Amino acid sequence: MRRNIGKTIGLVATMGALHRGHLSLIEQARQKTDEIVCSIFVNPTQFNDPKDLEKYPRTLEADMALLEQAGCDVLFSPPINEIYDDNEQWHLDIGEPEFLLEGKFRPGHYQGVTHVVYILFDIVKPDVAFFGQKDYQQFMIISQMVEQLHIPVKLVMCPIMREADGLAMSSRNVHLTAEDREHALILSKTLNWVKDHFDRGQISLLKKEAEQMIGAEPGVELDYFEISDGDTLHPADKNSKKIVALVAAKVGKTRLIDNVILLRNIE
Ligand code: AMP
Repeated sequence: MRRNIGKTIGLVATMGALHRGHLSLIEQARQKTDEIVCSIFVNPTQFNDPKDLEKYPRTLEADMALLEQAGCDVLFSPPINEIYDDNEQWHLDIGEPEFLLEGKFRPGHYQGVTHVVYILFDIVKPDVAFFGQKDYQQFMIISQMVEQLHIPVKLVMCPIMREADGLAMSSRNVHLTAEDREHALILSKTLNWVKDHFDRGQISLLKKEAEQMIGAEPGVELDYFEISDGDTLHPADKNSKKIVALVAAKVGKTRLIDNVILLRNIE
């Protein structure tokens, strides 16, 4: 790689089955860095459900064609033993965020995520790494890891890419049946409704209303709908400078997540 001649390296870490959301990260990387590395690695340690790991879509040929079109310079698609030793057992203790929101429903997920991202950063040594707002909590946790372990990388959060009808793009959407696909729209619709009606004084009412809207949709089983402080992920309150609404639900057999930023820091 061309780091030694003063080029900056951008990393887009993915699990493949690439869609326009991933490509938007590559596009940001193209604008902000000289050389783009995209990793494709279906990381076993972040799957708490072995069936979910097994059926995770793998489309490497198609991914390679998309990356080439998108102007990606390097594809890093390692076999498992290039990332993990046979008896690798360490993990990072990330503390409280492990138990909030996604953490509650996917025990060990963020230990797996921080583990693999730490290793990817160590191998690729990017100057800038691009992650999606789609995985808001993941971004927060990786930011904390970078800050607390003094990893020399800048992180950029990229906006959520959506289908024309509002569904957040996800590699898992291929598992949705036509019916699921219709029901899944309740997630983005509810987030938008909350955004349109957002008022700091009414947070608990909005949350309740949103839970009811999603609860009333057939085929959708809500894990959580939270209106959280964007920095701590605790329930938002009057002191929150950034506020995010986050949702996770099973639609048919597929678990989806989505979020919307309701209030941003005024910097
Ligand atoms: P994944 O392959 O699902 O692990 O995602 C790889 C990266 O793409 C993560 O940083 C995600 O947050 C990001 N990403 C996934 N879906 C979207 C989307 N719809 N819009 C923008 N970024 C996304």
